[in-house]
Amino acid sequence: MRFVTQLTCVVCGKPAEPPVSAGTCPACDDPFAVLDVEYDMDKVAKSLTPDALANRPLTHWRYHELLPVEPDEVAFSWPVGWTPIIETPRLGEWAGTPRLRLKDDGRNPTASFKDRASSVAVLHALRACAERIACASTGNAASSLAGYAAMAGLPATIFVPQAAPEPKVAQLLIYGADVRRVRGTYAQAYDLCSAECDAHGWYNRNCAINPYLVEGKKTAGLEIAEQTAGREPDWVVVSVGDGCTIAGIAKGLIQMKQLGFIATLPRVLGVQAAGMDPVAHAFESGELPTDVTGATVADSIDVPVPRNWRKAVKAVKQTDGTFIRVTDDEITDAMKATGRLAGIFAEPAAAAAVAGVKRARTEGIITQYADTLAVITGNGLKDIKTAMATAGKPKEVDPLPNEEPKPNEEPNPTAGEGASGTHPTRRTRSEPRP
Ligand SMILES: *Cc1c(COP(=O)(O)O)cnc(C)c1O
Ligand SMILES: [Zn+2]
Repeated sequence: MRFVTQLTCVVCGKPAEPPVSAGTCPACDDPFAVLDVEYDMDKVAKSLTPDALANRPLTHWRYHELLPVEPDEVAFSWPVGWTPIIETPRLGEWAGTPRLRLKDDGRNPTASFKDRASSVAVLHALRACAERIACASTGNAASSLAGYAAMAGLPATIFVPQAAPEPKVAQLLIYGADVRRVRGTYAQAYDLCSAECDAHGWYNRNCAINPYLVEGKKTAGLEIAEQTAGREPDWVVVSVGDGCTIAGIAKGLIQMKQLGFIATLPRVLGVQAAGMDPVAHAFESGELPTDVTGATVADSIDVPVPRNWRKAVKAVKQTDGTFIRVTDDEITDAMKATGRLAGIFAEPAAAAAVAGVKRARTEGIITQYADTLAVITGNGLKDIKTAMATAGKPKEVDPLPNEEPKPNEEPNPTAGEGASGTHPTRRTRSEPRP
């Protein structure tokens, strides 16, 4: 933390003591008064130079001056970040803006963007000597936290809402977490988790209020700047649930501009589901709507109480960006197009960003020859149910006749291997095809 100067409340602007378990502002009676980590940028500029970066590992720890942790050899052994940026001209044609690139964060170790935040959280919890780390999540934050807790050997308790997709729950269980499926919504799982953390003194990874975690998510913005320097995108497009991802990416881009790594600051476009759009409303009206109902197929951004909306709105404004809404049909269409035209399998919340590009083209927000980069925040294997409902059915066909034994006609193992003399090359069912 050598480069961190202070934590500042986004509501009252007062500095706050770095709290061990990272909550909201102690001076404000406001559940949305989150804290922002500030750095001594002059000092960072002297240490985080292009020369220094040239010799660093290709993980997000390469930006440790801009992270609120002091990474050591323990953390350096955890892979995270430095995901590829892929040119996707055919998907771009589909979206109406051929100069489209995707940053595929589904290739992180637990297959989502959340690994950036979880790796920082687990390291911070280790430094704070926490006995247990906990979080509530719609799925990815949970599976990611469980994965990094397993890498670190730190026990984890995870609260998931009833509707969390099975593959994400499977990840939790395989990583050995203590999993509590709450009979209720994400918001209810979140409240239960906060209460249990307070009661037991567990480290609370709930990203939305933990200021250290937005810093972890920031590394995607730092990477986008470093990876695209010289051809910075005009637009960076990100789907929005709690608002931490977009706030982090925007902050990362702004810091890299400050440090001189990029000459122009990309504008950041936030994408929300039309059925669940409180942050888009807050961007337009300045206030968070309180009577949010609705829902979306994109479970990772199905967030009615976005804890980090203030940072999200502020950061998008700082980049001269905006917000847009997409329907569930647009999301599933984008999911198919992204697979078919770019070879990338995105989960619905990730495909929402691609749907947002297309929608922003239709509305004239993104122009035809704009350079656009959409962030794929999670891998499609995370939500097989939606994928299967969207993708159609395979063609059922019969195998070739003769060669294969009939299902009820088990080959005699002693007759195989050319022993009968009649079919020297015939395979038995237990042998793999060559
Ligand atoms: C968490 C998540 C998001 C949104 O991030 P927020 O910080 O909640 O705004 C988007 N896509 C995927 C796949 C996610 O897991
Ligand atoms: Zn405050």
